[in-house]
Amino acid sequence: MILKVKGVSKSFGEQQVLKPIAFEVAEGERICILGPSGCGKSTLLQMVAGLLRIDEGEIEMDGRAVERGLLYIPPESRPINMVFQDYALWPHMTVRQNIEYGMKRRKMNGQHRERTLQRLQSLLKLDGLLDRLPAQLSGGQQQRVGIARALATEPKLLLMDEPLSNLDVKLRTDMRGELARLLEDLAIASLYVTHDRMEAFTVAHRILVLREGRIDQIGKPQELFERPASPWVAQLMGYHN
Ligand code: ADP
Ligand code: MG
Repeated sequence: MILKVKGVSKSFGEQQVLKPIAFEVAEGERICILGPSGCGKSTLLQMVAGLLRIDEGEIEMDGRAVERGLLYIPPESRPINMVFQDYALWPHMTVRQNIEYGMKRRKMNGQHRERTLQRLQSLLKLDGLLDRLPAQLSGGQQQRVGIARALATEPKLLLMDEPLSNLDVKLRTDMRGELARLLEDLAIASLYVTHDRMEAFTVAHRILVLREGRIDQIGKPQELFERPASPWVAQLMGYHN
């Protein structure tokens, strides 16, 4: 298992946003966290990333606790990287600098960096864009750079928070298939947050349905479709009544 989330919960003040939650992600597995706005998806992802502390429970990555009690391993020392909804590229850096930044921080040598950059350039169709600034790119191109930047540090687990939701419908539909193929080819494990059922169906090996801070069901897309565990999941799968 690349990730084990064991009884992790989170409150903001009086509001318990996540009830104790447990699930695991296998190597190379893609899990989509699917649920309506406000159900706690981003909160869960940020705790896995280490951007937000957990209240209780334990998170283990690659066989090692990254958070438990007083033990807390910061994001940059976890075998992860993250793609954000709003891309979060550094506006003053070129595409090349954006992608290289994390590699330099992780002290990858120049030759290794250049090889990785060339590979990501072709994988993510960034030819001719490396010397541009983010403002000189389209939304779709910016999101590709965001994905390249995250992959550049060779994470074992890629975290994505609604990575396509700022794109127009046509591009979103094209990119979800493309992204699924890329993740499949790289055999990289991922936790992918979305509120779009079709996106989850395209991308996921398993879908985790989150509702009001609880896991309603976790299973293969087909399982959820054929045997929804609750009326809510049934509705989410497109059944009416
Ligand atoms: P989702 O990503 O599923 O839309 P979030 O995880 O962003 O949901 O938020 C879940 C709930 O937690 C919401 O009610 C939100 O208002 C609340 N929340 C999120 N972050 C904070 C915070 N930093 N302080 C207080 N409340 C928060
Ligand atoms: Mg969110």
